[in-house]
This record gives sequence, structure tokens and C-alpha cells, in this order.
Amino acid sequence: MARRLAPQQPSIRHLLAVNDGFVLSEIDPRRVLAGPKDKDAARTEIAALAPKVAALQEMLWAEAKRGATRRVVVVLQGTDTSGKGGATRLVDSLLDPAGLAVTGFGKPTPEELRRHFLWRFEQRLPRPGTVAVFDRSYYEDVLVVRVNRLVSERTWKPRYQRINDWEAALVDEGVSFVKVMLYISADEQRERLLARLADPTKQWKYNPGDVDERAKWSAYAEAYQDALTRCSTPAAPWYVVPADRKWHRDWLLAHLLHETLAALAPAYPAPDYDVAHETARVAAS
Ligand code: AMP
Ligand code: MG
Repeated sequence: MARRLAPQQPSIRHLLAVNDGFVLSEIDPRRVLAGPKDKDAARTEIAALAPKVAALQEMLWAEAKRGATRRVVVVLQGTDTSGKGGATRLVDSLLDPAGLAVTGFGKPTPEELRRHFLWRFEQRLPRPGTVAVFDRSYYEDVLVVRVNRLVSERTWKPRYQRINDWEAALVDEGVSFVKVMLYISADEQRERLLARLADPTKQWKYNPGDVDERAKWSAYAEAYQDALTRCSTPAAPWYVVPADRKWHRDWLLAHLLHETLAALAPAYPAPDYDVAHETARVAAS
């Protein structure tokens, strides 16, 4: 009898990775690339994935207790309203908070500006066995900094290579990067900014500067194109997530995280004590 094979889900990492010849403007931010075609089904699948992600995270943590150095950095980039906050809440819903640290990076302080641009990120790298989320990152140093000419081209140009070298060195030390660009359309951003302004509970998220940055959409698109293509390396690829539909964004992110942790294949370490002996001692106690 012919065996019915379950339809194989394509690797989401493969599907979203920035490869040679990648062109950002060819991506459709509304497109549903894989998986469920509606919100409820996507939410159901995310919920089903959650315990698997949690188990992998626990094994990663258990390994670190025995000296393993592996850890994960999730880098979230995207324009205002692209959903970095929502993406963070999704990651938060999948992971044990004890092994998760979220840092939002805004304008550098005067002290940070005196240091190397990577310094403040170095301070927030995850401890072995844990996951760090960077809500914005050192990529701003070739995005907002480039678009707004906060430093000269001579200063920002070499940063792509610096970033690649830095990430590669960290990968050698056990860091896995999940670099995600949340890609929304200009129309979607207008709707989300208007929604913020219309809702007194969301007005605090709006910053009058957001509409000024929005006016530089094509300059940002160009800067993103360069950052994504120059810094998508085999060691630390970039993933572009179509993010106009929040439920699809979350579904893709959940799979990216799951695939990344599964690829590490963490395992519970063998106890460094004699289980039978300890069981007898406890029973007799
Ligand atoms: P938000 O993510 O909305 O809280 O805003 C953070 C702000 O910090 C954004 O406007 C970023 O453009 C800005 N930002 C982040 N990194 C840098 C940087 N290296 N230089 C200047 N501005 C930055
Ligand atoms: Mg903002």
C-alpha cells in the first residue's frame, strides 16, 4: 500500500533568507508565503509550536549548566510601526522569561557615542543558554545614521565589514543570530500611524519625528537593501519577514525561532552523579 506522506513544510529559514541577487523592492509585504491562510489557523499553529520551542530552550539552558556556550541573539529591525514590539511579545510568549532578555536600542547616549558603535551591543549579549532580543540594533549604525548623515560616509561604509567580522567571531563563540527585518508597505505604515493617532491609548507610541522619517522611505529602502545584502552571511543570514499581516508575521517568526533552536539540536546533559545511588539516598532520607 502506498504510504501517504505528510506534506513537507518548506524550511522557513530557507524561504526567508537573503541570498545573492536579493532585491528588497521585489518582496510583497502583504504576501502569505507559507502555512495557514488565516489568522485563527495561524494562532492555533503557533500555540502548537510553543511547547516544542520551550523544550528546546530548556535543553539549551540545561547544556549551559554543564558549560556549553551556545546562545541566541534575535535582531529585530524595521521601520516605525513595522511590529518590532509585537514580534518581541511573540518571542516572549514562546520562551521562559528566565532565559530571555529583551533590550530596546534607541539613540545612543553621549557616553555610548564616545565608544565603538558595537560596544553597547556587546554589553547585552546573552549569557550561555539564553536568548537575547535586540529591538533595533547596530544595524541602525548603517541605517538611520546613514540616511540622516549623522556620520560621514567614510565612517559608515566600513561598518558592514566590521559587523560581519564581529558576528562571525561571535558565531565561533557559540552565538546563533536570527536577524529579522520586518517589512511593511508604506500604505500599511500610514494606516498604523493613523491608528496610533486616533487611539488615546496608543498616542504615546507616536513620535512627530516618525512622519519625518517616513518621508525618507526610499533612502531607507536603499540603506536596507545594502545592509541586508552586505551583511547576510552564511554564518549570520538575514531574514526578511513580510509583516503587513501581523498573524503571518508571528507565524513566520515562531517557525524561524523553532527552526533555529532545533538546528542547534540541544540535548539534556547526562547527570554528573550516579542516579541509582542518589535515588537510594533520597529514598532513605
Ligand atoms: P523606537 O524604536 O521607536 O523606540 O525609537 C528608537 C529611535 O532610536 C529610532 O528613531 C531610531 O532611529 C533611533 N536610533 C537607534 N539607533 C540609533 C543610532 N545608532 N543613532 C541614532 N539614532 C538611533
Ligand atoms: Mg518609534
